[in-house]
Amino acid sequence: MHAQAGAGGPDNFERLWTPHRMAYIKGENKPTGTGPGDGCPFDAIPKMSDEEGLIVARGDTVYAVLNLYPYNSGHLMVVPYRHVADYAELQPAELVELGQFTQKSLGALRKASGAQGFNVGMNLGQVAGAGIAAHLHQHVVPRWGGDTNFMPVVGQTKVLPQLLRDTRQLLADAWD
Ligand SMILES: [Zn+2]
Repeated sequence: MHAQAGAGGPDNFERLWTPHRMAYIKGENKPTGTGPGDGCPFDAIPKMSDEEGLIVARGDTVYAVLNLYPYNSGHLMVVPYRHVADYAELQPAELVELGQFTQKSLGALRKASGAQGFNVGMNLGQVAGAGIAAHLHQHVVPRWGGDTNFMPVVGQTKVLPQLLRDTRQLLADAWD
């Protein structure tokens, strides 16, 4: 990131500059409907390479992927491959692997970033705050005291796409 005339020197608050949130605000990557053929990003991601899709790990029924619009660095999501909206509709094998991948996410984040705490859970339904309600996803958000995060580890001055790629690699390497 460049020092800007009149704006002072770069400091640790640089990480609060999050241009990626603009894409979210503009509603990019939002499905047009509720069916699997309606542009659901969670159906498209597994067809990409790990690097392109920011996939950290693939299981038999679920996968773990970096959130493109993170609440915090290292914000992961565990997503069933099957296009399903309701947790109550998950099949036993999916339930088990969703739980295992959530555990592995905690492990990888602790190992790679020294995360001190986590917010884990899912928003079911649009009224509950789900960004993509048609396809359920479990959020795993790492937390640190004061929420200093591991951007400094991978370089706080990198632009976001590179940062996400580096973060994905770190977590994929730390995945058990
Ligand atoms: Zn879907």
